[in-house]
Amino acid sequence: MRPKRGEGARAKLRAFFLANLNRVLDGEELRPAAGNTSEWARRVRELRTEEGYQILTHNDRADLKPGEYLLLDPKPAPAFARGISKETRAYVLDRNGFTCQMCGAVAGEPHPYDPGRKTRLHIGHIIDKSIGGGDDVGNLRAICSVCNEGARNLTLDRPSLQKLLIQVRRATAADQVAVLEWLVMKFPSHFSPTSHSSGRQAKP
Ligand SMILES: [Zn+2]
Repeated sequence: MRPKRGEGARAKLRAFFLANLNRVLDGEELRPAAGNTSEWARRVRELRTEEGYQILTHNDRADLKPGEYLLLDPKPAPAFARGISKETRAYVLDRNGFTCQMCGAVAGEPHPYDPGRKTRLHIGHIIDKSIGGGDDVGNLRAICSVCNEGARNLTLDRPSLQKLLIQVRRATAADQVAVLEWLVMKFPSHFSPTSHSSGRQAKP
């Protein structure tokens, strides 16, 4: 059976990255490693987007220049386990509002903990596979690369409602309004005049 177009080059690049962990690579090396295909950069992207290899670029690390690539972790992101389709990934990202479910970072925006870095989202398991979590949509969530690096085996760690409310009540009025605006944007149907349950007043 003939391999799919580009698969040979991708396999060569995969092997090359794995043989060169922790070393910054650029086109000078990657193009020949891919068999001199002009599409080497696209194949590198596929290793990231389709196979989950966390190949870092200048978007992830301030010390990398555009065109430089670095692979530190030989294991693909856990969410790229077989069985999670592109459609499921897209569905989960959409359901989570393209927002990291641990830290709230938004895809493509500067990361709140590391503003030099653009937020890149992965699909993560809520209950890790190593402790029995499955690939079903209910066990998947969007998670950014920053949280993902520190969250391989963490289970769900959302703040409790009580703690959350304490934080919100302590915040400035302007920040409380910002929270409200964000909530209205996130849950528009809860705030539309028709579905709003009348008579309930928010406590100050
Ligand atoms: Zn995050």
